Amino acid sequence: MKPDLLISSIGQLATLAGHSKRPKSGAEMMELSIIEDGAIAIKDGRISAVGKTSDIMSVVDDEATPTMQFPDQLVLPGFVDSHTHLVFGGSREQDFPMKLAGKSYMEILQAGGGILSTLRHTREATQSELTASALVYATRMMHSSATTIEAKSGYGLDLENEVKMMDALNDLRHKVDIDLVSTFMGAHAVPPEYEGKTQDYVDLVVGEMIPVVAERELAEFCDVFCEEGVFDVEQSREILMAAKKVGLFPKVHADEIVQLGGAELAAETGAVSADHLLKSSEDGLEQMMKAGTVATLLPATAFSLGTDYADARRMIDMGLPVALATDFNPNCANESLFFTIALACYRMKMNPREAISAITINGAHALGRGQETGSIEVGKRADVVILDCPNPDFLAWRFGANLTNTVVVNGKVIYTKLD
Ligand SMILES: [Zn+2]
Repeated sequence: MKPDLLISSIGQLATLAGHSKRPKSGAEMMELSIIEDGAIAIKDGRISAVGKTSDIMSVVDDEATPTMQFPDQLVLPGFVDSHTHLVFGGSREQDFPMKLAGKSYMEILQAGGGILSTLRHTREATQSELTASALVYATRMMHSSATTIEAKSGYGLDLENEVKMMDALNDLRHKVDIDLVSTFMGAHAVPPEYEGKTQDYVDLVVGEMIPVVAERELAEFCDVFCEEGVFDVEQSREILMAAKKVGLFPKVHADEIVQLGGAELAAETGAVSADHLLKSSEDGLEQMMKAGTVATLLPATAFSLGTDYADARRMIDMGLPVALATDFNPNCANESLFFTIALACYRMKMNPREAISAITINGAHALGRGQETGSIEVGKRADVVILDCPNPDFLAWRFGANLTNTVVVNGKVIYTKLD
């Protein structure tokens, strides 16, 4: 065997092997398949061998193979951030003191803040300005162990500006080494010019935006904000079915604020994931489980809004596969999956091992990429992160720190704090 790169003498190598076909659920989420003194061989961007260092070294023919050794580190599959709103104009720190002073959402909106300010700034921005700001965020995410990032449109809210956002995302794809996954989310909010005419806006999304997104192959997924006062279940269904017809895979922002039936809709439309799920019904979660829909939880959103958290324990205990993501957006400025893991453990009582399953293999399944990434197995893309911590419990306990030592994507070191 003549690999291009060897990572060896690894303190703890958690491969998360055996779940490429379907996500981990229930007690499986605790099992990380850890190899002590492990090694990974990489060839042509793929993992070519995994095992004990002594076993791997005994079959390596080329003594000149570049080798990195990490005896004190935990090595994991690259993190998958399966829910972000990475592309937007402006920022929202000006809202923050008002929010802290107890101003309501409406008061902030009337002061020119909130989502309307992001909408305005996004519409005013050029495509290259949007790409440039998203690149700054994406780079920081990559340096925090994310090797696959999903990103949505949804701050343009008209044909021209939604397409501009998707084009910015596709530009960004050529500037980063990681796998960037595009989701069209024209149905993120009802723009002010359609106030009181939500169905007319749905008609625009279905009749004009989705056909252009499909024809120009601008996105892989279609997401919708199914929530009271935004898009109801019927409107959300109409959008997702239209998207499905032209080859976009459904995702749903479901039951975040009220129990509207978003989980049920996700199951019904065969969505790859339903996200948020703070208020979902037992029945809706059962239906998701039967449909194979991943429950993506976003604890930083609850943290930033000061609300309760999704009931991760109930979902895991009932056997629903759970993923975790940052939900990075102007109202939840969290780029860190380390912070997300900490919140999942400290606030939602997930075990650190469950959290690791949730941001690797289950995150990959939430993006239809379970066969490609999310675990360290022969044949998969060589997306591997080396962390400055000795074990899974340490990783969650040590909250607030970026423990990334080295990030390997497609077999290439894209970031290291060494040398
Ligand atoms: Zn979101």
